[in-house]
Amino acid sequence: MFALAEITQEDRLYRGLCQVLDDDRYCCLAGTAQLGEFKIVDDFPTAYTDGRNVYFGREFITKLTDAEIRGVIVHELAHIFRRHMLSLMWMWEKDAQLSNVVWDMVINIQITEENAHDKFAVLPEPHIYDAKYKGMTEVQVWEDMYKEGQGGQGGKEGEGEGSGGFDEHGVEKFRELTEQEQKDLDDETTEAIRQGLLAAEKSGKPKNQNIADLVAVKIPWDSILQEWMVTTFGVGEDATFRKPNKRYLHMDIIRPTAIQDNLKDVLIAIDTSGSCCNEKVLSKFLSIVRNILETVSVNKVHLLFWDTEIRRYEVYGQGHAPVSELVNTTMQQGAEGGGGTTPNCIPLYMEQHNIKPEGAIVLTDGYIWGGWGDGLWDCPVLWGILNNPNAVPTNNKKVDVTI
Ligand SMILES: [Zn+2]
Repeated sequence: MFALAEITQEDRLYRGLCQVLDDDRYCCLAGTAQLGEFKIVDDFPTAYTDGRNVYFGREFITKLTDAEIRGVIVHELAHIFRRHMLSLMWMWEKDAQLSNVVWDMVINIQITEENAHDKFAVLPEPHIYDAKYKGMTEVQVWEDMYKEGQGGQGGKEGEGEGSGGFDEHGVEKFRELTEQEQKDLDDETTEAIRQGLLAAEKSGKPKNQNIADLVAVKIPWDSILQEWMVTTFGVGEDATFRKPNKRYLHMDIIRPTAIQDNLKDVLIAIDTSGSCCNEKVLSKFLSIVRNILETVSVNKVHLLFWDTEIRRYEVYGQGHAPVSELVNTTMQQGAEGGGGTTPNCIPLYMEQHNIKPEGAIVLTDGYIWGGWGDGLWDCPVLWGILNNPNAVPTNNKKVDVTI
């Protein structure tokens, strides 16, 4: 007779992970699971992910059934492939506790639905869940809870970490990464999801549409923006706001670069409502826009901050502060908006103030009241929709922006 060696918690975690990655629903997560390490740590009260690695507290896993281990594994992987830390950090910065609730809510509803028939992956109690948010994205749940002022009360309260969940989101750890490291993780995550979906498809497994949808929208938005601006304004060899023309410097004459007969202006309109924009998003967006502006033929930049009305108006370029200063603007000084989002106010303001740009770029979260200004725009518009792939403007062109 042989005595069976006692199964360790490490064995249970490994077996759970193998079962998850062997399952039709979740085999496409194989790439995501390999981004970091899965391990059991002593003296940690719950599960944990920092957007790459997944840890289980030793005592915590001991109390879980095998189906619950699978449930928590899928939950942690979902934080990674749904890019919660990569794309939705603005929620955490605004209200950390509420963002923890919102992230868990969307994941738990999805897992509950995916496992309703066979209970393959089960979520340990207590966990965040409210059926009224079925089918909603993180931003939609956030909008609702934020308005309701429900922070921290969206689900059942657990002890300790404040989210009422069974895991901790290692946001502080993620924030320690440099900008380059965050970008690398973003690229690696996209590639891992893509590879996982590809491998699942090759093995003939049915597609997990929830996961496939998340990578389908991943197109580099700044190249779409660049292409649109070149098409709208033309390639700018002699834009007036740039450096003096070097060809003449040796003659000791600093000649202004050629001024075009037909000066073209661009309008940039930033949605300051509710969840849309914060300082970090604004400065990243404007620095990308500024870089593109240096390559196209634009003379003046009209910068508007708006929500239900125009909150502030600034001009850069000829006769004003140089366009390079665009990135130094802030949300402060009266640009902070309220709750609503009504793009109609932009073309109306343009008409009242005789602003006639060749094209307009509007950055918004796409949660719109009272229409997209149909019939009011006198110029082509590029709608930059921030973190909300479901929004569909009813005029002009859209690009999904992730910052
Ligand atoms: Zn969680």
